[in-house]
This record gives sequence, structure tokens and C-alpha cells, in this order.
Amino acid sequence: MKSNLNCIVSSCAYNHDGYCYASHIKVNGYDATDFKDTNCDTYIKGSFESLSSKGDDSITNTQNISCSAKNCTYNFYGGCNAAHVLIAKESGKCDTFRIKN
Ligand code: SF4
Ligand code: SF4
Repeated sequence: MKSNLNCIVSSCAYNHDGYCYASHIKVNGYDATDFKDTNCDTYIKGSFESLSSKGDDSITNTQNISCSAKNCTYNFYGGCNAAHVLIAKESGKCDTFRIKN
């Protein structure tokens, strides 16, 4: 496995074969109580071929996430400590979001 962050948003320019090549992503969801309230702020519509930087050194891992979803159990001071993250659905919802008990 290249990375512990997978993304199935195929319309995003940074997506290639289920991996994200943005280097770093920002996930929004300050008031989120459900994964539907989150979204990947780094999403840009486009094709991977148009990117200038798309080597494996651009691959995004979970430690490269800045996330404002403070109600998520995996949020740790604005970072993400989930072992694996899946960004999914059309507009980049964080499927791994779990509400804090
Ligand atoms: S939607 Fe976000 S996580 Fe998915 S490839 Fe694009 S920038 Fe990366
Ligand atoms: S799992 Fe939680 S902390 Fe990690 S990116 Fe998703 S919403 Fe943010």
C-alpha cells in the first residue's frame, strides 16, 4: 500500500488510482456531527495528467491532513490520528469520520 489515505473522488485532479497526490490536504467540518458535514477543501476539479507534480513524493498520508472536524474521535489538535482514512463521495466527504462519545 502506497499510503494510508485513500480517495475515490475521481473528478479531483489530485486523484490517481485511489491515492491523493496533493502532498497535504485540508478537511473542513468544524460543526460536523456526521461524515456528510465534512469535505475536502483541497479538491480541485480536473485531470491528473494536468498536474505538474505527481511523483510518489507528492502522495498524501494521514499525517498530512489538517482537519477542523473537532467532533471526530480521530481529530487530535487539528491533525488526524486515524490509522486509515477514506475520502469518498462526490464532494470529498471523510468517510472515516466518527463522532466522539
Ligand atoms: S478530493 Fe481531496 S483527498 Fe481526494 S484526491 Fe482530491 S485533494 Fe486528495
Ligand atoms: S477521520 Fe476525522 S480527524 Fe481524520 S480527517 Fe476524517 S474527519 Fe478529520
